[in-house]
Amino acid sequence: MSDHSIDIKISKASKSKIESVDFNNLDFGKVFTDHMFVCDYKNGAWQTPEITPYQPLTIAPSARVFHYGQAVFEGMKAFKDEQDQIWMFRPEDNHDRINKSSVRMAIPEFPKDVFFEGLTQLLHLEKDWIQKGKGNSLYIRPFVIATEEAISASPANTYKFMIICSPAQSYYAGEVRVLFAEEFSRAADGGVGFAKAAGNYGAQFYPTSLANKKGYQQIIWTDASTHEYLEEAGTMNIFFRVGDTLLTTPTSDRILDGITRKSLIQLAEDTNIDVEIRQISVAEIKEAARKGELKEIFGAGTAAVINPISGFEHAGEKFELPKLDDSYATFFKEKLLNIQYNISEDPHGWRFRV
Ligand code: PMP
Repeated sequence: MSDHSIDIKISKASKSKIESVDFNNLDFGKVFTDHMFVCDYKNGAWQTPEITPYQPLTIAPSARVFHYGQAVFEGMKAFKDEQDQIWMFRPEDNHDRINKSSVRMAIPEFPKDVFFEGLTQLLHLEKDWIQKGKGNSLYIRPFVIATEEAISASPANTYKFMIICSPAQSYYAGEVRVLFAEEFSRAADGGVGFAKAAGNYGAQFYPTSLANKKGYQQIIWTDASTHEYLEEAGTMNIFFRVGDTLLTTPTSDRILDGITRKSLIQLAEDTNIDVEIRQISVAEIKEAARKGELKEIFGAGTAAVINPISGFEHAGEKFELPKLDDSYATFFKEKLLNIQYNISEDPHGWRFRV
């Protein structure tokens, strides 16, 4: 439903790029749709939003985002069912979260009604970019940047809120092996780990590139003060299956409150799988692996959905996980996708029709 009280200025692209896109061969996050949503903040208020052709921005080199990283973002997806209806998954939670991130980064919050109206109108314009079929989706990236021309280290007075979209395919990431962090940290108590602040991601690139050189695709971050407790991966929350119990870390000011994570916890409860939400030590996971009790590790997040991990290294010790026919990762992925693609019931009201 459109909210006609919100005025959005729309200028359409003169020609769609869609014909030049090979939807069977998409590199994640590299192709963008024809339009984008833009809303500026100035004089203490968000201004009239616009949908324009996707195009480069003109921003002063002195804009604060370039110097102080005052920027936050979100990641969400839209899905098309067999009847060509478009659905999103718990998008209110993304709206809440971008505002939590914004508050932490001294960025003004973005109004919910404008967010949803902008998103809806943008997705209606881009509906052909959302391909049917389980695994295909449109990845949606809302973000906010500080645009004020000023290089003094303080919050900006002007911002740009934008939404851009990129078609995505289900992908098989191959065998993913991870390194448990021993030296570097992602987040600290009192810091910005819980926020989707741009700098949280840039700061991971160097340690991750070192892990890549050792043959590991990702790092599982540990707590910054002791490195004894497992926290999350770079863009995914993390789950461990010991015996038949699922373990995941509680959220905190160091950990992103992932929407996939909390959905999996709910699905586990719905299906009587034991879940323990508690601190998980590196030592107990290594011990469980030695005893053959560690059955699975998997990451959970919007982009990858569920990413099974086949091995890990910590302190020079390497561990391989068994290959299971009845993995929780496969079970939860199926359950989640069936809800997202309007194939199964949606008992918790997570689907949102666009
Ligand atoms: N942790 C981090 C650090 C992330 O960036 C993400 C991706 N948003 C997640 C976890 C997973 O969150 P979600 O399930 O909401 O995508």
